[in-house]
This record gives sequence, structure tokens and C-alpha cells, in this order.
Amino acid sequence: MNGKFFLYPYQEGQVVTLKKTHPCGGKTWKLLRVGAEVLMCCETCGHKMSLKRAALEKACVSVTEATDDGSEKTAGK
Ligand SMILES: [Zn+2]
Repeated sequence: MNGKFFLYPYQEGQVVTLKKTHPCGGKTWKLLRVGAEVLMCCETCGHKMSLKRAALEKACVSVTEATDDGSEKTAGK
């Protein structure tokens, strides 16, 4: 039996959505460094914070894989 707490394999570059909204209004955070603690950056205001991995597990509602192909990009500046 697997009695260990499952840890989601977070990876640098992924964007996570947290339950709690940041004071700036943003909810998405980009993962900058992943270890026992995860360093992340608010995508809206650029604020950086680190969170224990287990705390992130609880606070996170969804994870978006980083895309390198830029297919979502629209024309413009
Ligand atoms: Zn923010």
C-alpha cells in the first residue's frame, strides 16, 4: 500500500492557480524553483514568494503546463 502523501511533480516553468487571490487580484503563479520549498512569482504583479511544497499542494487548485511553442500567442506587440 502506498501510505505516503502524494506529492505532485511540480516543475519549473509551470503556472499554478491558487485558491487564495493575491492582493493584486492575480491568482496565477509561475514556478521559478522547485525543491522542498517552491519559489514562485505572481504573474500579475511579479511578487515573489516561497511556499513549502506541502503547503502548495493544499493551496493549489490547478496546474498549467508550460508551453514552449507559443501557439496561444496572438498577433500584436
Ligand atoms: Zn500579485
